[in-house]
Amino acid sequence: MDDDLVSIRFENNIPPYIAGQFTKIGLKLDGDLVSRPYSLVSAPHEDFLEVIYVNVPDGKLTPHLHKLDTNDSIFVMDKASGFFIMDEVPDGDKLWLVATGTGLGVFISLLKTDSPWKRFKEIVLIHGVRTSGELAYQDQIKELQAKHPNQLKYLQTVTREKIDNTINARIPDAIKDGSITNICGEINSSSQFMLCGNPDMINDMVDLLGTYGLERNRRSKPGNITLEKYW
Ligand SMILES: Cc1cc2nc3c(=O)[nH]c(=O)nc-3n(C[C@H](O)[C@H](O)[C@H](O)COP(=O)(O)OP(=O)(O)OC[C@H]3O[C@@H](n4cnc5c(N)ncnc54)[C@H](O)[C@@H]3O)c2cc1C
Repeated sequence: MDDDLVSIRFENNIPPYIAGQFTKIGLKLDGDLVSRPYSLVSAPHEDFLEVIYVNVPDGKLTPHLHKLDTNDSIFVMDKASGFFIMDEVPDGDKLWLVATGTGLGVFISLLKTDSPWKRFKEIVLIHGVRTSGELAYQDQIKELQAKHPNQLKYLQTVTREKIDNTINARIPDAIKDGSITNICGEINSSSQFMLCGNPDMINDMVDLLGTYGLERNRRSKPGNITLEKYW
């Protein structure tokens, strides 16, 4: 992985959580607790917690997380929360999991649970990054592919490098020009999308999926697009 991309595993006795939820992590900096939300990459049945973060050089928290060493302590919110979970996603045939950067982590957690595999015939996991060093969790994805060879399709888009077997375009553009749908099949009303990460990707995807007649999924009005923006 890229030097700026770090996954932290830690122990904590937080109450049971649901795959897809986030917790808040913090450090005391100059006497004040500075905390930020992070999606859990670990799954509820695992006996550790894990998050992945990218170092934002001028960020308030991450440059300090970056200085941590094994056995250092962090603050963790008592309870995980959030609604980016399978129970909030309506039924369908194909589940499209679309992430940029660290947004992949939450999908690793979801895919370690049974629910997506039981509920959807096909799952498409698309990870968009700038450089190949950001293509995290390759081992876990290989394991998932080996376990579900006919159910999972995994695509990588890398925008700032030309790498074999990856698509060299932003995800919305790669859908528009057919390079993704040629491999993963058509987008239609039985597609459910979960979008996570960079707000520009999410906004562009929501606009693009609107042209297919797909709308945001809300509790008051179920739809086909469930999303989590990281900033
Ligand atoms: C529900 C939720 C879950 C989140 N889960 C994760 C996660 O699993 N991993 C993670 O790295 N971040 C995640 N974030 C973002 C995270 O909370 C922080 O905003 C991020 O780590 C930067 O914190 P900071 O204090 O260093 O930067 P800040 O001083 O808060 O600066 C924020 C700026 O950092 C940039 N930024 C924030 N997050 C990212 C990111 N993930 N990738 C690239 N640039 C970013 C944006 O330009 C943003 O405007 C999540 C946010 C939300 C709302």
